[in-house]
Amino acid sequence: MPAPSDLEQLLRGADLRVTRPRLAVLSAVHDHPHADTDRLIGVVRRTVDVSHQAVYDVLRALTTAGLVRRIQPAGSVARYESRVGDNHHHVVCRSCGAIADVDCAVGDTPCLTAAEDHGFTIDEAEVVYWGTCASCSAITTTSPS
Ligand SMILES: [Zn+2]
Ligand SMILES: [Zn+2]
Repeated sequence: MPAPSDLEQLLRGADLRVTRPRLAVLSAVHDHPHADTDRLIGVVRRTVDVSHQAVYDVLRALTTAGLVRRIQPAGSVARYESRVGDNHHHVVCRSCGAIADVDCAVGDTPCLTAAEDHGFTIDEAEVVYWGTCASCSAITTTSPS
């Protein structure tokens, strides 16, 4: 967990005024990678008295400023994480919705080299791996004795 002064520096570096709600949301995202908005609201409201709408607004501001990355796998609500700028991918469990980080398979963002770019200037590839997480596979493969 980054020190409060580090979080303040992140906000200032992104030209955002340092406020308690912003610090609280940013710290919650750092502590709970891939949490959805409801979970973050719960965490933030333990320390700061803010409305749901305020948390939504702060998340949007942090996402726009590039301090937080918003991911939304198909069929899932939006999740937020503080690991930004490295184009990493995610593996999602079809059964329970658990999400984990997956580094780019080979070297630096090889997925950006599309086989056919149709004339687009491509700056991001969004890859989601779908499967079954370890605890869900354990449940389905354990036969009742
Ligand atoms: Zn699972
Ligand atoms: Zn991630």
